[in-house]
Amino acid sequence: MWPAADAIKQQIPLLDYLQTQSWKPVRRVSRGRLMGLCPLHCDHQPSFLVDPVKNLFYCYGCGRGGDVIRFVQLYYDVRFGEAMALLRRSTGCGSLLRDVASFYQVQLHRHPEAAAYLQQRGIHQPQVVEDLEVGYAPGGYLRHWLVTLGYSLGAIQQAGLVNAAGLDTFSHRIVFPLEGNLYGRSIGNAAAHRFLPGAKGGLYRWERVKHHSEVILVEGLLDLAVLWQAGFRNVTCAMGSHLNAHQLRQLCDGAPRTVYVAFDSDANGSGQQAAQRLVHHLVNQGVTVLRIELPNGHDPNSFFVGGGDNQQFQRLLERAVP
Ligand SMILES: [Zn+2]
Repeated sequence: MWPAADAIKQQIPLLDYLQTQSWKPVRRVSRGRLMGLCPLHCDHQPSFLVDPVKNLFYCYGCGRGGDVIRFVQLYYDVRFGEAMALLRRSTGCGSLLRDVASFYQVQLHRHPEAAAYLQQRGIHQPQVVEDLEVGYAPGGYLRHWLVTLGYSLGAIQQAGLVNAAGLDTFSHRIVFPLEGNLYGRSIGNAAAHRFLPGAKGGLYRWERVKHHSEVILVEGLLDLAVLWQAGFRNVTCAMGSHLNAHQLRQLCDGAPRTVYVAFDSDANGSGQQAAQRLVHHLVNQGVTVLRIELPNGHDPNSFFVGGGDNQQFQRLLERAVP
């Protein structure tokens, strides 16, 4: 592990990586070191110190520090191996993931079980599938096709697309392309969610959503898809109810907007608790947040699948609570 970690650290200097995450130093301090706002907590006065020579950081606010791998672990809330995979991927398999996503998009139209699943989850407009670039991983054809395109088996395996035995890791899954990853939703009995190794990344399509004065935040991409279909374009998704530091930083960017949290209304209350924790955290950071109360046992997807429409959801927005 260690030689590989050293190689990554040399290949991707900490400062370069921070700059790709739009981190900017506010001032220089002694010995070429730089100070700026900490990306790991909602920082208001520069407490994040970067030493480009030692390739290390330390935050005087949250007390955390380390190298680029440690930074990625904290920023995306991932384990060491996943941080390594993410960094490796950031060095140039962007086009690989784009090729995979287009392959899966073609497969969606060739496999009736995929269309049937989308219907069942309330997604029936072809335009939604098109806009969100939804695809389908049937399992079993990907490796062959990627090798034909000129990718090495090693690169395909390193990206986590096929396993050591050469089999597709995404099989019978509806696939949504993310920035730097893929999200696969099982249509069968396999574990419901899956990402490629690495982080889930930031909020879904945040760059396109962040300019709205009102933003709806949901847990799952199938929630997002039905809202999109109902005409709500100001929706983003955390891909789970736990937000990583990167996602929190996106919501705490200081822009004047109201965030509506529409998490699952689980029978055991876990979704409501997650929403409350998030609301509490965001309010402390000065963000205007309201919580949408869905009927018991519902998430936004099941709300629409169960017959809810645009106007009914609009009423839930109007009745959202702090
Ligand atoms: Zn910090």
